[in-house]
Amino acid sequence: MTAVTPTLDVAEAADRLALAPPSQTLAWAVGAVPRFAVSSSFGADSAVLLHLVTLVAPDLPVLFLDTGLHFPETLVYRRTLAQHLGLTDVRDLRPALAVSEQARAHGGGLYLRDPDVCCAIRKVAPLDAALAGYGGWASGVRRDQTLERSATPVVESVLRGGRPMVKVAPLARWTAADVTDYLDRHDLPRHPLAGRAAGVAYPSIGCAPCTRPIRPGEHLRAGRWSTSAKTECGIHLERR
Ligand code: SF4
Repeated sequence: MTAVTPTLDVAEAADRLALAPPSQTLAWAVGAVPRFAVSSSFGADSAVLLHLVTLVAPDLPVLFLDTGLHFPETLVYRRTLAQHLGLTDVRDLRPALAVSEQARAHGGGLYLRDPDVCCAIRKVAPLDAALAGYGGWASGVRRDQTLERSATPVVESVLRGGRPMVKVAPLARWTAADVTDYLDRHDLPRHPLAGRAAGVAYPSIGCAPCTRPIRPGEHLRAGRWSTSAKTECGIHLERR
């Protein structure tokens, strides 16, 4: 599975861009993949990829999963960062069920009892539906984030809803330190919860019920789904 369109050789691009700077990867994808988008959680590290988007393709659609369970600070940051960067096309993707409807259908606190089902309803299904309109997308996934992400290719062809798509991770090779350095160098606004004010640190930010601050010495994603073995919401677990 190497070609999304008859003229697009994804495997060749994957080899050629494996060590490329993120902006070069993004520029290739925007130019080569019909109907390309970027997904963003508007979390602690999101400003980096979105800033790169403004340099390469400022009109690129930005897909934001508005799960209905975000911290209020994330929703504020979604607006202020978009405004700061001049992003013109941020699309809020919402689940078919409102939070109250999900509680009626599945019982309250599904995120505690079965977070995989909750993520499937509130994240995976809305993203699948949105991506049906695109030939590919970029995300901010990095190899240093989780074991599951440790072999993330910079460019790959994946099956999404049974359809081949190009998936791009321009920052795959970057480390958390690279991200911090980029945020500092470009003086980018930080997520309000991402700092370490009062000794509280949220270096990875998802839905409020499934995110806690980390303690000193913990892994940067230790605060995600910390009461279960879950480490991924599922939006990056496509068939390859
Ligand atoms: S992160 Fe938690 S609250 Fe958000 S969709 Fe997944 S299980 Fe539900």
